[in-house]
Amino acid sequence: MSTTELLPNFLGGKWQSGSGAGTPLFDPVTGAELVRVDATGLDLAGGFAFAREQGGAALRALTYKQRGALLGEVLKVLQAQRDAYYDIATANSGTVKNDSAVDIDGGLFTLGVYARMGETLGDKHYLPDGEAARLGKDPLFQSQHILTPTRGVALFINAFNFPAWGLWEKAAPALLSGVPVIIKPATATAWLTQRMVRDVVDAGILPAGALSVVCGSSAGLLDQLQPFDVVSFTGSADTAAVIRSHPAVTQRSVRVNIEADSVNSALLLPGEAAGSESFDLLAKEVAREMTVKSGQKCTAIRRVFVPEGVYAAAAQAISARLAKTTVGNPRNDAVRMGALVSRTQLNAVREGLDYLKAQTEVLHDGATHALVDADAASCCLGPTLLGTRNAAGSDASDRVHDTEVFGPVATLVAYRDLGHALQLVRRGQGSLVCSLYGSDAQALAKAATELADSHGRVHIISPDVAALHTGHGNVMPQSLHGGPGRAGGGEELGGARALNFYHRRAAIQASTTVLAQLGA
Ligand code: NAP
Repeated sequence: MSTTELLPNFLGGKWQSGSGAGTPLFDPVTGAELVRVDATGLDLAGGFAFAREQGGAALRALTYKQRGALLGEVLKVLQAQRDAYYDIATANSGTVKNDSAVDIDGGLFTLGVYARMGETLGDKHYLPDGEAARLGKDPLFQSQHILTPTRGVALFINAFNFPAWGLWEKAAPALLSGVPVIIKPATATAWLTQRMVRDVVDAGILPAGALSVVCGSSAGLLDQLQPFDVVSFTGSADTAAVIRSHPAVTQRSVRVNIEADSVNSALLLPGEAAGSESFDLLAKEVAREMTVKSGQKCTAIRRVFVPEGVYAAAAQAISARLAKTTVGNPRNDAVRMGALVSRTQLNAVREGLDYLKAQTEVLHDGATHALVDADAASCCLGPTLLGTRNAAGSDASDRVHDTEVFGPVATLVAYRDLGHALQLVRRGQGSLVCSLYGSDAQALAKAATELADSHGRVHIISPDVAALHTGHGNVMPQSLHGGPGRAGGGEELGGARALNFYHRRAAIQASTTVLAQLGA
């Protein structure tokens, strides 16, 4: 009989526990059971209606400026509880402080950006969209597009790797837009999301029904969705396919945003010698991306493309950095990389590694890392660099371009010339991000425009921004997050662009005298 706390859900304006025994959440380093979650028997229909009707109406009654001010208050509440969030992340996600920061402080930073945006948008209830356009010869009758908040709920179904950032990068733009939020975090790490929602609810800042959380099974959630609701999903391509084929989407036209998996890449441009500044910047960034959050970032570098002449040197430079990474219990100050989030993930990473190894060589073997304060029963795993050496061979290997191993794993791939490199990058079928390394501004800009159509973001690291750039894998709220094709086709963040998803666009056709009143 389990004795850990059963986390309550907040739905329909009240805290309520599921009626089942609950699914336990574990410490991935010690194996200890931490808390349990359960959503059995909740009145989902009532909860969704409450959020849609009460929460939505109360939020829409406020202006962007007022809602931004509320987000500012929410931020203060969360900042006051930061230590508690770090403790939960250490215990439940197995992350070292720096990696917990990517999730927790990254989430708070993003929330702050949208809180301040409310001030800029001002005391309005809707947003103009472009200029008015004449509809005929007489300029009196024109068309003006406007954006108004959708009269529905925003259902968020999130992945396990960002329980804090994943909540706020979605909730901040939704709430600023005037749309109530129901969040369903991934079960494995639901605790941090639930705790943040609990703190915000207890502080009594947001109107009733504006923010709800359901932890545990996703069963029945999509069935609740009505035509003006939206669903934003982050997770695997397989679950994304289930969501896309749900009647809410196929029959009721519920708007859906999908952030799925992605085989992101890093590309050292031709002509950059081994040991050059750009070469060193690539080696540094690849090693960092492989080890931050144990490679459990949707944006992490999975494929590393280098000219064939520097393949051996790149293998050595990246491996040397990886060898210095201490792996183990995040509570030990000597540890730089903690655990994978669960045994399921550990097994999935091991399987993925075996699958890739059939077409690659092992350049740095994560199994050689001695674990610090953790044993073989923990979910800790050292970083592994794989490689495919000859450029002709990289054409034949398909697995490296198709397989996202969601852990501290990347593959070095040799290319012949830039055309070949661009062709190989595109074999990822659409990614969240690609980073480019080089010192020739013109060549970098040209490569970036070549790759822009298949990426949500192109991150360029030239020596002049070596100390300034924000990191290949860091998602900044000012820039678009999402990617075409395999990456899910979604768009999040990107400054004010994030608000579009939560608004409906309509053309108002009228006399310019009437249109003038729209801005009043
Ligand atoms: P997942 O297994 O697809 O789960 C994601 C979410 O979907 C979880 O909350 C899960 O709930 C829920 N879910 C599972 N089955 C469902 C169903 N039939 N209907 C509705 N919801 C369902 O993904 P994950 O393992 O948590 O996350 C890892 C993946 O996410 C990786 O592939 C990674 O690349 C991707 N990711 C992408 C981004 C991005 O922004 N593009 C960011 C982070 C992660 P339970 O946990 O309760 O099963």
